[in-house]
Amino acid sequence: MTRNSPIRPDRIGDDIAALAAITETGRPWTRRAFTPIFLEGRAWLDQAMQAAGAITAVDAAGNLVGTIPGRRPELGTIMLGSHSDTVPEGGRYDGIAGVVAAMEVARALSDQGIELDHTLQVVDFLAEEVSIFGVSCIGSRGMSGTRPLEWLERQSQGLSLKHAIAQMGGDTAQEARRNDIKAFLELHIEQGPVLEAEKLDIGLVTAIAGITRIEIVVEGRADHAGTTPMHLRKDALTIAARIALKVEALANALAGGAAHFAATIGEFDMVPNAANVVPSRVRMLVDARAERREDMERFLSELRLGVALISGDTGVLVEPLTIVSDNWPTPGDARLLEVLETACERLGATHRRMASGAGHDTAWMARITKAAMIFVPCRGGRSHAPDEATTAEEIALGAAVLLDAVLVLDQALQEEEKWDAS
Ligand SMILES: [Zn+2]
Repeated sequence: MTRNSPIRPDRIGDDIAALAAITETGRPWTRRAFTPIFLEGRAWLDQAMQAAGAITAVDAAGNLVGTIPGRRPELGTIMLGSHSDTVPEGGRYDGIAGVVAAMEVARALSDQGIELDHTLQVVDFLAEEVSIFGVSCIGSRGMSGTRPLEWLERQSQGLSLKHAIAQMGGDTAQEARRNDIKAFLELHIEQGPVLEAEKLDIGLVTAIAGITRIEIVVEGRADHAGTTPMHLRKDALTIAARIALKVEALANALAGGAAHFAATIGEFDMVPNAANVVPSRVRMLVDARAERREDMERFLSELRLGVALISGDTGVLVEPLTIVSDNWPTPGDARLLEVLETACERLGATHRRMASGAGHDTAWMARITKAAMIFVPCRGGRSHAPDEATTAEEIALGAAVLLDAVLVLDQALQEEEKWDAS
């Protein structure tokens, strides 16, 4: 940790421990959105934000927001934050590190008696993880005006999402989209092994990968497994296996380039799935992630071609590929990345640029403001699991980078505004 920084790792460690203690008993670490234990965590956060000098409120989208008014609030808001909800039996740091780091920035400013010109806000986004409603980033989508209207009628456990947001203190009848935010920064654990392996302090996130999900259905023919000669079969599984290898080969080729690319067949069902029947139908769901859109386009066109060739070779029908969902990559704001990079240099934090393979609230905030994120290392790249780990010192160094960037942006955004207006 840099010696002169007002950021205090001890406070960060205490906050992490306090939130970790608020978990479903016997099931560490579980604090899923829309549950009573999540609200307990929120109540603790609310107090902690107030202790950091913030005025707290839950916005219309159900996000907990702590506000430290600026000297010139008309300039707009600089926002920092992440999410406090977890997956079931998740970790103590995913999302939480970013909320705690944001609070520590606020405390460090207050300790030094620094008042910003811009208003500073610390945010805990609602339900970043996939919740009981089967969707993610509910709060940041609300704040960015990108939450689909039909989501509000989604039902789970006898409750609609609309009512669940109301129980969290939100109000979906009110406009939640913000237009006063001038910059948004998020600190997050990497959730991958790169920073630790390269012994680096900070990842500057160049882009949050786009995610495209593709359904592939192979229609073979059910036949007796004992009596049907091999050359007369239409075996959906063996065709699906060839397609799976094609997906892997294409992904390997693209992953060898300069930008992040990954593809996974994470869902697979086979019919009838019986020992003595030739498989008649296979359905697979491909999850493909690309830092660059052109890589995804290439993957899709080569996959279509590959599947058509396999189908033609074998005479087994493969239905046209269905794009189930298709989100484009979100580049980090170039100016913010420069500011963050300079902050790393000033603090002596080693760093590299890298893409995020996972989705984050920042991707939605980028729809309404300049947005960027930084990663801190985590042990073995583990996340969404109880053994997810990082240290208060590593988070503190990230928080120091955020603090430096906030101080720079408080001035630079004003210059920019003048420049934009002229
Ligand atoms: Zn997260």
